[in-house]
Amino acid sequence: MDIYFYNTLTRKKEIFEPIDKKEVRIYSCGPTVYKNASIGNMRTNIFQDVLRRVLKYNGYSLKHAMNITDVGHLVSDGDEGEDKMLKSAREEKKSPMEIAQYYTELFFKDLKALNIEMPEIICKATDHIQEMLEYVEKLMENGYAYETSTAIYFDVSKLDKYPILSNLNLEDQKAGARIDVDREKRNHYDFALWIKAPENHLMKWDSPWGLSYPGWHIECSAMGQKYLGDQFDIHTGGIDLVPTHHENEIAQSKGKCGKIPARYWMHGEYLLIDGGKMSKSLGNVYLVKDIIEKGYNPLVYRLFSYSSHYRNKLNFTWEGIEAASKSLERLKNAYQMHLQGSDEIEDKAIGELENKFHIAINDDLNMPVAMGVVWDTVRYEKKSPKIAKLIEKFDTVLGLKIAEPMDRNEQQLPQEILELVEQRKQARENKDWNKSDELRNLIQSKGYEIKDTKNGTEIKIIK
Ligand code: AMP
Ligand code: ZN
Repeated sequence: MDIYFYNTLTRKKEIFEPIDKKEVRIYSCGPTVYKNASIGNMRTNIFQDVLRRVLKYNGYSLKHAMNITDVGHLVSDGDEGEDKMLKSAREEKKSPMEIAQYYTELFFKDLKALNIEMPEIICKATDHIQEMLEYVEKLMENGYAYETSTAIYFDVSKLDKYPILSNLNLEDQKAGARIDVDREKRNHYDFALWIKAPENHLMKWDSPWGLSYPGWHIECSAMGQKYLGDQFDIHTGGIDLVPTHHENEIAQSKGKCGKIPARYWMHGEYLLIDGGKMSKSLGNVYLVKDIIEKGYNPLVYRLFSYSSHYRNKLNFTWEGIEAASKSLERLKNAYQMHLQGSDEIEDKAIGELENKFHIAINDDLNMPVAMGVVWDTVRYEKKSPKIAKLIEKFDTVLGLKIAEPMDRNEQQLPQEILELVEQRKQARENKDWNKSDELRNLIQSKGYEIKDTKNGTEIKIIK
């Protein structure tokens, strides 16, 4: 069955035709590991995981590379400000290496909690300094790069066309553009490939231009080419990467080998919080950990994300999460009912459902429509293990672990709450009622209600 993907490059939905008939090569821009990944970042990762799973469902094997940015991503996309890694290291009083390691581990933990498959290749920027240097040297040699007293820049005027991925209008923007920090730049849109390090800069490497460090965009071009070749099938990322990072990756690749690095460019839209932006200053940056601490199975968030197409915005609310939690429970229960059923179902009926699901996922990963088919399937009047098998097949794409029994109350509680409940139990056994009340209040302040019943202690999340 044909697969259709919306390609940002052509602004059209196109039939997907991989370069190799069996193996699809994908590159995804990974996290800059200087802070916790939010559930917004994770929405992009879920979209990328669904893409993987849909390709596998269609029989392809994958070579998927994702980078970990641990150097060179400056605070502003306009080659200005401090390196995000260094800023975070300074604020947290740790070394950049410690920061990178800490947040990379947390990122992997979130991927696991959301049942996101590990890409076949994970590549760290700082492990590929040599490849990046060689890339920049080649751009110099090809006449696409020049040196100023502060950096090596890519000269966008040397390209036949720039931009080609985004709708950026260079003329419009020029009028309102800020003054460039580096007045030696030839064109406003020239971007830094390599940056000369100030004296006390922590992360720097020897280069033909003295001690210096890479710009952000060069890492993806160098690692993408190293692991996937001059041209591969799909490049993914969040929608915000289109006008700068991905535009510049394409520029670099054209400058080095004359090719656009990927044939299909796929971008995930943003997650909103209560209809607006998620930001530190508004105090509404939620993490996967927050969802778990409220007592939810993290896969509830994964299911929640299927309520919107990946190219549409999705609005996060706790009510939405509560509804998704009930839905996940219903899916699991229905699966068990089918597993134990003994009704006769014709293969034709199964085939029709399977076909509808397949059409939906192949239509640019249309998960809201695919979920409609999943619901039709679980609600199928006759109960049969054949349906259970079909749900298992769908779940290879959904990644919801539907066949696993629902976690029950206590198992879902965070460790911290379980410990406080245990301490309160001890206090009650010692008839220390003051302590017991104190602990009840503390537990309550953390969002859990505690009730002593004949059958023991019940703990409920306060909504
Ligand atoms: P940041 O940590 O904000 O630099 O974001 C890292 C990447 O995650 C971005 O480049 C986006 O592609 C993606 N991202 C950030 N915030 C969101 C969001 N609210 N919704 C979806 N993706 C996001
Ligand atoms: Zn990238």
